[in-house]
Amino acid sequence: MGDPSLLKLHVVKPGDKIALKDVDPSAMGNFKSKQDARKLILADHEELIRLQDMMYAEDKHSLLIVIQAMDTGGKDGVIRHVMSGVNPQGCVITPFKVPTPEELSHDYLWRIHKVVPPRRMIGIFNRSHYEDVLVVRVHSLVPKEVWSKRYDQINAFEKHLAENGVTILKFYLHISKAEQKLRLQERLDDPNKQWKFSTGDLKERELWDDYMAAYEDMLNLTSAKWAPWHVIPANRNWYRNLAIGRIIVETLRGFDMQYPQPAEKLDGIVIPD
Ligand code: AMP
Ligand code: MG
Repeated sequence: MGDPSLLKLHVVKPGDKIALKDVDPSAMGNFKSKQDARKLILADHEELIRLQDMMYAEDKHSLLIVIQAMDTGGKDGVIRHVMSGVNPQGCVITPFKVPTPEELSHDYLWRIHKVVPPRRMIGIFNRSHYEDVLVVRVHSLVPKEVWSKRYDQINAFEKHLAENGVTILKFYLHISKAEQKLRLQERLDDPNKQWKFSTGDLKERELWDDYMAAYEDMLNLTSAKWAPWHVIPANRNWYRNLAIGRIIVETLRGFDMQYPQPAEKLDGIVIPD
């Protein structure tokens, strides 16, 4: 197995119109099996740890990773996998829940902008400002004339961030409705997973088609060269983790980083006993 670049395989090209029904949630790129991919997953993981260490030391870049998915789509799993072993001091993970009254009294990007990662940090959004064109649209929490303007607003916001040194990667974890059923059933049956089960998730499931339409518009209207969306086939956890890990590593490699020079001349320094 070679060392395939995944930067382009799942990306939504700006201007393209994708249809989610044409994307196979069980796809596994050029891989034949998990076994086939194992070495690469391990190698990528080691490289991620090395690159993040350099990113923290160099203090030049920040990386914002946005993760969106239907319930059970694997957002928590991705974060656990991708971040295991990296230096927690260099990462901030922010989950976005139903907005608080204070958050609702501001514009919808207020709570987002505050937690965009500063230089040297990797920030992961578990859900994001995109909920404001997903759940908010599907449930008509604001009128169409309000949410429909948000695609342009989000593009402008992300462009502003990108022009100010934030590299943005966006992942939509694509699972099938049948796979969601299996995963919800598992949450119901496994006492260690029951805490994650909410009957509210069943209500959202009934709105599957509305969500798919909202996701499609999101992907087609907000994939920009400064903040591309990747549609990650996510029925198979190993492929989802591999693809996202790989795309992050390739992006960090592109930073072409170096450890900073020492602040002082170190020649001849002897550490006293
Ligand atoms: P969970 O990720 O399972 O903890 O659930 C978080 C919940 O918060 C989901 O049901 C989201 O749809 C909801 N949520 C997140 N952001 C917003 C938002 N801007 N407006 C309304 N609901 C939201
Ligand atoms: Mg949930």
